[in-house]
Amino acid sequence: MLTSRLQAQARPQKESSNPPAHSHPLPARPAQDPILRLQRTIGNQAVLRLMRAQNPEVGLVWPQQGSQAASATVQRSPGPESDQPEKTKQSPKASPSPGNQVCSGPKLGATKLTADSTIDKKVAGVIDDVMARAAACGTLKTYITAKGDLAQGHLKVIEHYQGNDMVGSTHAEDRFDADDFHQAVKKYLQETEPDFPTDEEKQRQKIAEIGGFYDRKRDTINLPSDAKLGSALHEAVHRTSKPVFKNYFGQFLNEGVTQMFSDMILQDESLSAFTGHNYGENLKVANRLKDDKMKGNWKPIAEIYFNGDIHKPWEIMASIGLNRAMHKEQEILDAIKK
Ligand SMILES: [Zn+2]
Repeated sequence: MLTSRLQAQARPQKESSNPPAHSHPLPARPAQDPILRLQRTIGNQAVLRLMRAQNPEVGLVWPQQGSQAASATVQRSPGPESDQPEKTKQSPKASPSPGNQVCSGPKLGATKLTADSTIDKKVAGVIDDVMARAAACGTLKTYITAKGDLAQGHLKVIEHYQGNDMVGSTHAEDRFDADDFHQAVKKYLQETEPDFPTDEEKQRQKIAEIGGFYDRKRDTINLPSDAKLGSALHEAVHRTSKPVFKNYFGQFLNEGVTQMFSDMILQDESLSAFTGHNYGENLKVANRLKDDKMKGNWKPIAEIYFNGDIHKPWEIMASIGLNRAMHKEQEILDAIKK
């Protein structure tokens, strides 16, 4: 799966025809003769990865769908927040008192909710609260900026019935195609995934893998109606991230790191880690990077992932025995597993 993704990445991509007007693919790209300079310093492959920053990002994979997680290959586009000065991410909260109020509210662990709870109408408000606590008093508080606006239309729940995931007969396929969430995923993938197949059977395979997605262009989290709270949080963490981490380390590790940070937030909420995803391998590699290679120091990872720091990738590469800021994705994964 990863191999085919890498092959796909090796092909030059057209830039998206309609990137968000106020954003640019790589906020941190050097100002002078940027592409040539990058090609010289980090190589063509790495530059291609950087330039692919136009694509969006797909979320969790249904756990029962087998081993396709690593191939949820859709890429992320620079979000509306990409142009913010990096320091806004680290600035103190606007006012300490709302933070204190937020922090004194009950954590999820004090409610009946867990990461495995099926979402309901209140999901946007629940995740807004969780992210507000994460930003004000959580382990990741230095890195997370809570927007608190998911309930204002940035989270969409789309009808989905898992029985519609079956294929194998014309009748089943008709039901698959008629499913609201499947239709939303298809539209999104067609719009954003350059490698989305034209064959309908292959399209359905891809669609069935998607358990939620963050549409960066529209700044909207999209979830199927039977999604778990853990999936909603995973997408919310994507939403608060910058594209830089994925540009340097690739989609596979980006998903693992996203789940790693999501689980840190769950732990702050006195809940167990979320397991209802298919990113087990991704998470394992992310944890190996953090625990073995970085000796438990996740902060440089967070600085890249949340703040878009472009100096820290070198530090992480050094920790896995690589000597440039950018390497091929497979090289990075191999070095972490070594
Ligand atoms: Zn994801």
